[in-house]
Amino acid sequence: QPVIVAIDGPSGTGKSSTSKAVAAQLGLSYLDTGAQYRAITWWMVNNEIDIEDPTAIAAVAGKPEIVSGTDPAGPTITVDGTDVAGPIRTQEVTSQVSAVSAVPEVRARITELQRSLAAAAEKGIVVEGRDIGTTVLPDADLKIFLTASAEARAARRSGELKGADVQATREALVKRDAADSSRKTSPLAKADDAVEVDTTELSLAQVIECVVTLVEE
Ligand code: C5P
Repeated sequence: QPVIVAIDGPSGTGKSSTSKAVAAQLGLSYLDTGAQYRAITWWMVNNEIDIEDPTAIAAVAGKPEIVSGTDPAGPTITVDGTDVAGPIRTQEVTSQVSAVSAVPEVRARITELQRSLAAAAEKGIVVEGRDIGTTVLPDADLKIFLTASAEARAARRSGELKGADVQATREALVKRDAADSSRKTSPLAKADDAVEVDTTELSLAQVIECVVTLVEE
């Protein structure tokens, strides 16, 4: 019986590092759903679609072909055959992704991709995102909701961005989380049956151990 693990939470809580390590330790597949929303946003920006216009976004939401590789040792993401792992992490994409991912046609498209990848994972999969436990995989075997203080999240993210200004990073994070939490279609939210783990005072190794233990229970 494949095991399905949903890991949700805002940015900078350690979702990606945790999810990848848990999947690797348990021999499961791994899916970064944020990368998929970033990939479709990258395509919209590249094709000069007006990001302020949800109707324009909806009209082309079905066009790009987004393919995710789910090996936790080397996850991949392509759009129409182009490797976009680097370009989807730019400031430009990061600042536009909340607007694109709020469009219901975009969510329907990406949600369908996510469900088919989860169904295809032979041993099971760890799926990280914002709405996995609530909307994408409501029957997941285990749901985790990671949190951390805004200070801790900004410090981690600016560390990753190699010396980016912590205050500016914090403002951008808080703004993106507010947009993700307030959209109408499947917002960032904790499922009623999710286990909440506050990572503010925990090391990455401690968070990984905590989640692995919960999966094995
Ligand atoms: O996880 P990451 O920061 O890469 O996610 C980028 C953006 O993708 C989020 O800010 C959010 O707008 C969107 N997203 C989403 N639903 C998910 C995962 C990500 O709307 N399940």
